Amino acid sequence: MQSSKSQEGKLLNPLKTKKQKALEDFNNRIRDCDRCRLSLTRKHILAGEGDMDARIMLIALSPGENEDAEDRMFIGPSGQVLDKLFHEAGMEREWIYMTNLIKCTLPKCRRPKMDEIESCSKFLEDEISIIQPEIIVPLGYYATRTILTKYHADPPAARKDFKKKYGILIFSDDQKILPLPHPATLLYDPSFEHETIEKYKKLPILMQACKWYSMCPMKRFYEAGRLERKWIELYCKGIWQNCVRYEMEELDHYHFDWMLPDGSPDENLKGY
Ligand code: SF4
Repeated sequence: MQSSKSQEGKLLNPLKTKKQKALEDFNNRIRDCDRCRLSLTRKHILAGEGDMDARIMLIALSPGENEDAEDRMFIGPSGQVLDKLFHEAGMEREWIYMTNLIKCTLPKCRRPKMDEIESCSKFLEDEISIIQPEIIVPLGYYATRTILTKYHADPPAARKDFKKKYGILIFSDDQKILPLPHPATLLYDPSFEHETIEKYKKLPILMQACKWYSMCPMKRFYEAGRLERKWIELYCKGIWQNCVRYEMEELDHYHFDWMLPDGSPDENLKGY
């Protein structure tokens, strides 16, 4: 395959160019959407923004008033909260791709209606298949419900139970998902700030695999087809700080090769 050159003379990765083109086509396609009543009250349809090659894709609910006016994501009060959460967690906006579940603003910040979510969901699905993020991070109830449903990840029946999912890494249908509280919730109730920061601190952990992975027996077992992929995705390339093996490595404590990342033994792995 031939490489192409940009106007500045830099070599472009042909695959990246293809992705860029797909994203541009997508943005053009959604621009005039009138599938639902929100098209009557919006100023802009907000496309996603950020690094299209990012491993993490954040999905918020919808643009607020400021975002609708300026055609930018997270620039209003929620954006300030997001920046604070990112700062505390050691994250940068530039490291992720961000988008919304609903691309047009919800008048007076009202709740979305079911038909509005359904009308816009197809766009989100297209966007996910273009970006192909390793980790999807839905923010708040509506985005989390949509993503857990799409990936058959056992969405709770009651809204109040979604809070229990925030900060827990899920692997379902070959997709990693980390639901987090929406930053806007802290505008209404700042008492959750500390626990929200702790949950956002899981994001930088996901940016790199466990430092022990290259020499860990779990890698060997997985590559030999003896270990389910979920262990690797949830721990070694997920929240490795939760791994009992990791903890014991750090403390230099002896542990059996056949001990799984959650600390349980798997006798079937003995001798491999
Ligand atoms: S099993 Fe634990 S220690 Fe081993 S690579 Fe995975 S996270 Fe790290």
